[in-house]
Amino acid sequence: MKTLEMTGKATARIIEADAPTPEHGEVLIQTARSAICGSEMKTYRGAGLAGGNGGHEAVGNVIELGDGVTGLALSQRVGVSAVFGCGQCAECARGRYTWCKSATSRSRMHAEQFVIHARCCSPLPDDLPWEPATLLTGDGLGVPWHTAKKIDRADIETIVVMGLGPIGLGNVLLQAHLGRRVIGVDIVDYRVDFARQLGADVSIKADDTLIDRLMDLTDGDGADVVIDCAGQRASVANSFLAVRRGGTVVFNGESNEELLAPSRDFNRREIWAVGCWYYFMSEVPEMIQLWRDGLNVTRMITHRFPLAEAPAAFELFDRGSTGKVLLRP
Ligand SMILES: [Zn+2]
Ligand SMILES: [Zn+2]
Repeated sequence: MKTLEMTGKATARIIEADAPTPEHGEVLIQTARSAICGSEMKTYRGAGLAGGNGGHEAVGNVIELGDGVTGLALSQRVGVSAVFGCGQCAECARGRYTWCKSATSRSRMHAEQFVIHARCCSPLPDDLPWEPATLLTGDGLGVPWHTAKKIDRADIETIVVMGLGPIGLGNVLLQAHLGRRVIGVDIVDYRVDFARQLGADVSIKADDTLIDRLMDLTDGDGADVVIDCAGQRASVANSFLAVRRGGTVVFNGESNEELLAPSRDFNRREIWAVGCWYYFMSEVPEMIQLWRDGLNVTRMITHRFPLAEAPAAFELFDRGSTGKVLLRP
């Protein structure tokens, strides 16, 4: 089969590889679509991944069942969760794989075939096309939906989304769909414009006047919620400056730097801060219902490439001038 190999330092190539074999409890999937995620870029720009890639958002057909697999049939259409738990603890029983103490993850899905644990597969309704399914069963919409459930209070009206990569754009689309007034912020013109198309009331390019402009847009008080989707020193600092007294900052962006000071950032203005990672397997039916209720997730997709052109797709994505990018074997 053909697979994408991330060869490191922002290069990639298509190689021939043996199809993986499903072990006990696993299935082999024939990939229908895979999506590029911003979280893959660290691997792509850095050391790469010998023989494979960071792809972890995909849909396809089950074509081989490993020993002990029940509840899935050959040729069944499924979306997959890349994160999976032990399958035995209380969190796994509730579909919260990310909270399992032995949670781990799978990648290498930018390939004609990939292997995944059967309990990571969500069967797809017949009337759900591949493209929306790729977003609805993976972290493309999963992170925005998981985030939305943490900020579902009726008194939240204005939300600033700091950073308009695919996760930020997903938050814009979903929060606008849910009736919030959304203000998007990024440093790339393309993304600022695209956020408006996805429902942002206002979308602005970050510069030295950002906080002044956000205060003007929120009657001088700040936003009820700021979702940081960039994980940068500046975006984290700006998130706390842009939130109102008693408001909430949600972290979607990844950062391992020590950036926060409790007195300055939390105590004096009584700010709430919420961490948010990936989504729960149990939330997939809720996301499919959002699509049934009219959430047009396909609007997040701006580019489609055959798998053979995946290296060019990654180059384009890396420049920041795309929404969600889909690959098709
Ligand atoms: Zn992802
Ligand atoms: Zn578990």
